[in-house]
Amino acid sequence: MSEQKLNIILMGPPGAGKGTQSELIVSKFGIKHLSTGDMFREAISKQTPLGLEAKSYISKGLLVPDSVTINLVKDSLANDECANGYLLDGFPRTIVQADALDELTKKIQRPIFKVINIQADEKILIERIVSRRICPNCGASYNLKSKKPLVDGECDLCHSKLVQRADDTEASFKTRLDAYHQQTQPLIDYYQKKGLLVNVDGLQEIDKVFNDICKGLGR
Ligand code: AMP
Repeated sequence: MSEQKLNIILMGPPGAGKGTQSELIVSKFGIKHLSTGDMFREAISKQTPLGLEAKSYISKGLLVPDSVTINLVKDSLANDECANGYLLDGFPRTIVQADALDELTKKIQRPIFKVINIQADEKILIERIVSRRICPNCGASYNLKSKKPLVDGECDLCHSKLVQRADDTEASFKTRLDAYHQQTQPLIDYYQKKGLLVNVDGLQEIDKVFNDICKGLGR
């Protein structure tokens, strides 16, 4: 039997390092990165109808409604680009989304291989969030303390000017953390019961976290 495709879900509270680890995973394994947060931010910057709808939730730190988010992922996941594996970053975030994903991956025969759950202490998360900067052009993620760009304020990859995410404020973070506890955390149990969950300590250095993820994937 051929080796199972790397169809991965990356989970963790806001600030756990999903964006940074996603970049490392997709570059090592050559799989497609699907970040619902990135998709929403792109739609917002292009001022599409989806972007306008999503913005009203994201700016408050709330989750975008399931129906909108599920539709967004449905189209992308069935795409040829995901045939050799995919990394879902920030999706699913609710049980309704997870059930929809389960149904979809069965239908298109692209089953989930592993669910990586990055664990992190909540006191550290807020510090990470307020010092995060992102590239609005390519989505690369930096941190003013732990992952500085080579040139101050500039993306290493595409040299665009780095910005702070509008929802990376202390007030928005609290709402996002609440949403995480109430709506997303139950997924840990959900995937544990399916035998797919791999817990990784997200408080280690970036390379060590990545190493543990690779071990968890058995690659
Ligand atoms: P992220 O970049 O993953 O932190 O996502 C940024 C924001 O986009 C979140 O705080 C939510 O408002 C929204 N979002 C991203 N993914 C989802 C999802 N799966 N379900 C609902 N809202 C989402």
